[in-house]
Amino acid sequence: MAKSSGKGTEISAYGEFGLIEHLTKDFPLRNRDTKKGIGDDAAVISPRNKQMVVTTDLLLEGVHFDLAYTPLKHLGYKAVVVNLSDVYAMNAVPRQITVSVGVSSRFRVEHLEELYEGIRLACDHYGVDLVGGDTSASYSGMVISVTALGRASREELVYRDGARENDVICVTGDLGGAYMGLQVLKRENKIFQQDPKFQPDLSKYEYIVGRQLKPEARRDIIQLLKEKGVKPSSMIDISDGLSSDLLHLCHRSGTGCRIYQDKVPIDAETAAAAEEMKIEPLIAALSGGEDYELLFTVSPKDMDKLASRPQITPVGFMTPAEKGRLLVTSSGSETEITAQGWNAFGRMKDE
Ligand code: ADP
Ligand code: MG
Repeated sequence: MAKSSGKGTEISAYGEFGLIEHLTKDFPLRNRDTKKGIGDDAAVISPRNKQMVVTTDLLLEGVHFDLAYTPLKHLGYKAVVVNLSDVYAMNAVPRQITVSVGVSSRFRVEHLEELYEGIRLACDHYGVDLVGGDTSASYSGMVISVTALGRASREELVYRDGARENDVICVTGDLGGAYMGLQVLKRENKIFQQDPKFQPDLSKYEYIVGRQLKPEARRDIIQLLKEKGVKPSSMIDISDGLSSDLLHLCHRSGTGCRIYQDKVPIDAETAAAAEEMKIEPLIAALSGGEDYELLFTVSPKDMDKLASRPQITPVGFMTPAEKGRLLVTSSGSETEITAQGWNAFGRMKDE
């Protein structure tokens, strides 16, 4: 059996096969449409007469995550959740995932156990089956890629291109929290690098740090919409910030839009942290990223059915394309919405 040292168990001690088996042994298959999971050349899925949606994400250490302040368990959980969020944004239900990992020699089996513990929690919570993946050595750090499969009937699927003039623009939850949480983590990490005895006190920032490290996908909203018999005309999940994701809906749907600054939902803790760091809270909400809330449009006649739902906030409406894509500020002036969202390539340049 694998040898353990004070620094943990060398990955090579297990061998590729043994390692995969070790990491994936606590993953039961629970969905009837999963016919074959891990262990053959490919998984087998039987979608019956549903449409299958497929989405994938690639996370690179140093570009998308920093292990200095990201616990591996949270990273595993988040890597799954961001993909499930994309499935829900199609108004579909996630059923299976595959997980591929690349690890350099500085990682030990215990690190992967932690990562897979997070992956397992996400699978349990969202009822999805881990059905495969790939494992490889890497020269530089950790790489994780998750693919999620989901299903919906043809009628249920919601695309980005269905918004029409006068449709109401809604967002779920609150925005900017994950971005401000990241700023707090980066700040505390910088202080820690200079003074390793420094013990960060994050209790004041619990909500926003949680938004960054342990986001959830809005399954509850998809269920609520179904219950209420409301099918959005268009939908996207907010991964890059409200501005950029709203522009995607407008672009695909061929509409303009008008949203109101005073309507954009921002949590008090987000606003307080933003002010402390001299960041305009609205900018965090519009251009921060990783909130994984849903942004959708509904026909005005459906709005009654969603009234008095605190988790859904109407922020404006769609307009003809020639009216432009506008934000109406608190003072009543209009500014054009630009996409200054979360851009991995832009960030690499300025950091
Ligand atoms: P192959 O040589 O055909 O790529 P592998 O030996 O890589 O097969 O994988 C064996 C089985 O284990 C397959 O079912 C594969 O999907 C699964 N698997 C491999 N790596 C992982 C991983 N990191 N997480 C989950 N399942 C994995
Ligand atoms: Mg393989």
